Amino acid sequence: MKIIKTIEELKQIRKNLKKGIGFVPTMGALHDGHISLIKKARKQNDIVIVSIFVNPTQFLEGEDLDAYPRKDEADKKICEMCEVDYLFMPEVHTMYDKEEVLIKAPNTSYILEGYTRPGHFDGVLQVVLKLFNLVRPTNAYFGKKDAQQLVLIQQMVRNLFLPINIVPCEIVRESDGLALSSRNVYLDKEQRQKALLISKSIYKAKDLISKNELNFEKIKTTMYEVMKELDIEYISLVNRNFEKISKIELENSIILVVVRFGDTRLLDNIWI
Ligand code: AMP
Repeated sequence: MKIIKTIEELKQIRKNLKKGIGFVPTMGALHDGHISLIKKARKQNDIVIVSIFVNPTQFLEGEDLDAYPRKDEADKKICEMCEVDYLFMPEVHTMYDKEEVLIKAPNTSYILEGYTRPGHFDGVLQVVLKLFNLVRPTNAYFGKKDAQQLVLIQQMVRNLFLPINIVPCEIVRESDGLALSSRNVYLDKEQRQKALLISKSIYKAKDLISKNELNFEKIKTTMYEVMKELDIEYISLVNRNFEKISKIELENSIILVVVRFGDTRLLDNIWI
């Protein structure tokens, strides 16, 4: 595996690569969720490129940019074990000028996650577009865990006519159900235990839906009940374009959950 630090190096290497490039952009502190994306990319492509970049423009003032977990050495080993061909780990000054042409995400980026974190998705799209232009992948892999991010990236690819296939990947969970996230390390023992109620509510909702219960109000009430001791920020229903809807539409809906533990926000969801 070759580690790439500079744009020049990446451009030089990319020039000599043929088609069949799978790309997995991450912010590092890699866990089994990231690994599942990398493995899928490995299966489906000749060349696999992973990036690790904690992107400052997607963090709001006062968020955890400085505290965000960084595990470069462990991450390198994981990528090596997953047979990644190239690991791109740029510095912030490598990726950004003092002043920049900006990307403006659509209005659907200002609800839900974007309501709590206004401008977050502008930063996400900005860095993903930069990475896409550098790597020029055939396939790019994103987790359904970050549902709003995935849908906005799909829209960017559509709107800007980018010749890239976006591959959505299933949510990976701990054996007890908690969706894996780099931010789970912020939870203390008690919070970690209580957080299990989130996946419990997700399983409960899935169970109801499998029994043909499509009334979202009923499902939401049950989910609130399961998580009644938690600080729930929202339980919402959107379609696959991320517009809020009131009725579940099969094959076109996502139920989203966000729960707060102090400053830590945990996301989970179900694609129906
Ligand atoms: P991040 O490093 O948090 O920016 O995540 C990089 C990619 O991994 C994103 O596409 C995430 O959606 C995906 N990802 C993070 N957690 C999980 C998970 N538990 N299951 C599947 N994909 C995930």
